[in-house]
Amino acid sequence: MSCIFCQIANKEIPSQFLFENDNLVAFRDLNPQAPVHILVVPKMHISSMNEITSENSSVVAEIFEAINKIAEQEGIKESGYRVISNCGDDGCQSVKHLHFHLVGGKKLSETLS
Ligand code: 5GP
Ligand code: ZN
Repeated sequence: MSCIFCQIANKEIPSQFLFENDNLVAFRDLNPQAPVHILVVPKMHISSMNEITSENSSVVAEIFEAINKIAEQEGIKESGYRVISNCGDDGCQSVKHLHFHLVGGKKLSETLS
């Protein structure tokens, strides 16, 4: 099993989790793009947003519930933040395990692309 986020979620690679429950983990991005840059990741291997189905989509709702708790923990709930999930080549997805970037802690760019 070579998926890096499976290894992190399964604790095969020691990581500091900012949030964890039965279905998801959150940890800081290795290469932060903003003062707060956290990855929120399902424990289950889902390759990308393209693979979200009615069978696995409940974890996506859980991820979004977790995101506002994490934003509060990080002190950015009121100042605001952005959530991004890159998908496929044009989306510049580099890790092929579904994840949501939570970025904030500064005024972000107005452009998305
Ligand atoms: P993507 O480009 O797929 O949307 O985002 C992948 C993100 O994962 C990148 O921001 C990259 O810095 C981060 N990343 C890649 N490998 C690791 C790792 O081993 N640990 C952590 N904490 N982040 C990683
Ligand atoms: Zn995986």
